Formats: sequence, C-alpha cells, structure tokens
Amino acid sequence: MEFLDLAGKVVLVTGASSGIGEATARALHQAGAQPVLAARRADRLSQLSEQLGGALAVPTDVTDAAARAALVQAALDRHGRIDGLVNNAGVALHAMLAEVDLAEFSSLLQLNVVSALAMMQAVLPAMRSQGAGRIVNISSGTTRMAPPTVGGYAAAKAALNMLGEVARKEWAADGIVVSTVLPSLTATEFGGGMYKLGDEIIPGFCVQSADYVGRIVVRALRTGEEFIDIPHGAEQPELADPPAG
Ligand code: NDP
Repeated sequence: MEFLDLAGKVVLVTGASSGIGEATARALHQAGAQPVLAARRADRLSQLSEQLGGALAVPTDVTDAAARAALVQAALDRHGRIDGLVNNAGVALHAMLAEVDLAEFSSLLQLNVVSALAMMQAVLPAMRSQGAGRIVNISSGTTRMAPPTVGGYAAAKAALNMLGEVARKEWAADGIVVSTVLPSLTATEFGGGMYKLGDEIIPGFCVQSADYVGRIVVRALRTGEEFIDIPHGAEQPELADPPAG
C-alpha cells in the first residue's frame, strides 16, 4: 500500500464539530492537509475553522441528500479536488435489545449506516476522476465483542465494517482505498458525554482521548490499512505514528 503524504490534501471530515471528528480535523491541519469541516452545528465549525487557518466549514446534515451534495460541491469549488473522506458522524444507542426503541434504532441506522454509504457515494465521482482517494470509516470496538446494552449500535457499526470491506474491493481498481478504524471508549460528547478521560469503566477498558483517536485516524488515511482496532486500556501513543518503512 502506498504511503500517502497528506500535505495539501483535501479531506472531508463529517461530525467535525466535536469529539473524534474535531480532533481528526486538528490532526489533519497539523499534518499540512486541508480539512473540510462538516456537521450540523455551524457555530462550532466556524470557531474550529478560525483555529485551523480558515479551513472550509460547511454546515451539513449528512442524512440530507441535498446537504451532502452541497458539501461535496463546496469542497470542489474551494479546492478543486477531494482526496479523502473521514466518515465519522454518528450517534450512540444504549439499551438492552428487548427495550430498543425502534424509531430511535431506525434513525441511528439512517445516520450511522445509510448516510455513511451515501457520503462514500457522494465523493466517489471526484475520487474516480482523480484516480485516487482515501476513505476512513469510523466504526467501533463494540463490533468485536457483542456486549450487552449496545446491540443495536454495534449491529449498525458491524454493517459499516462490511460496507468498508466490500467498498475496498469494489473501488480498488479506481485507486480508492477504504479503511476502518475501531475506536475504544473515547472521551467525547458521545452518549451525552458518558465517558470521562482516564476513567476505567470496567477492568482493562480505560477511556481514551479524542486527540489520540484523531491521530490514529490520520494514520489510517496515510497508510491505507484495512482495519485499525484501537486496543482497549491505556493509550499507546506509538500507534498514532505510521509504521516505519
Ligand atoms: P460526538 O458526539 O462528540 O460527535 C459526533 C459528531 O457527529 C458530532 O460532531 C455531531 O455534530 C455529528 N453528527 C451527528 N449527527 C449528525 C448529522 N445528522 N449530520 C452531520 N453530523 C452529525 O461523539 P464521538 O466523537 O465520540 O463520535 C464520533 C464517531 O465515533 C461516531 O461515529 C461514534 O459512533 C464513534 N465512536 C465513538 C466512541 C466513543 O466512545 N466516543 C467509541 C467508538 C466509536 P452535530 O451535532 O454538530 O451535527
């Protein structure tokens, strides 16, 4: 897999208004890339844009087809190309399966799965015409565990894993590389901010920082590795650095 130099590269980040998306946008800026910031909260995006050298901020509800198209067009109008997509916007759902509210589950599927595929489709024409592109989907470590209380959420993220695996094969000939990052517990606004940095929720599961996860997402963009399962427990800073060679 070719190592991608991110300098100058245009990377759309969904869910950039907080948490892992915001941290990824910061790490991209630090790497010399040009993040394009997308989420619904315009005030957050414009504050972040000011801190990231005027990065393009496009208030976007990714569940809305017209908003997705406008996001892609705005990126192309400003930069003339799209080199990457970090498909990160998502919500939590905590309930035993017997109690899952089906309307809430349906809306989660719409955001965490359908809109993620729709975003991949939205950037595809630009990436195909460039003959290159990198996509990183933000999944979850829950997809490797089947833990009680997050079955609905984990099922949606498992669907995202599969979309990523298949897209990686289907679009390889176009020069498009699709990766999946599986964060562990991360201190963000996720689930109403239920994970606090440094807490050990259960033995061996320490809450990690969004900055750490954002740097690992940037690693995935650079290396194009298929999966990065972020280990549970203490952060391993070296994981954020691409492997030597
Ligand atoms: P946050 O709640 O901090 O971030 C979620 C982001 O998604 C926000 O920026 C929010 O922005 C955005 N978003 C939500 N709905 C929409 C929408 N309709 N259109 C556009 N953007 C939207 O949580 P995290 O940073 O933790 O979550 C990021 C990703 O990481 C999610 O996919 C989550 O499932 C995943 N993840 C998180 C873990 C954790 O422990 N925190 C663990 C494993 C995976 P806005 O409200 O402004 O639209």
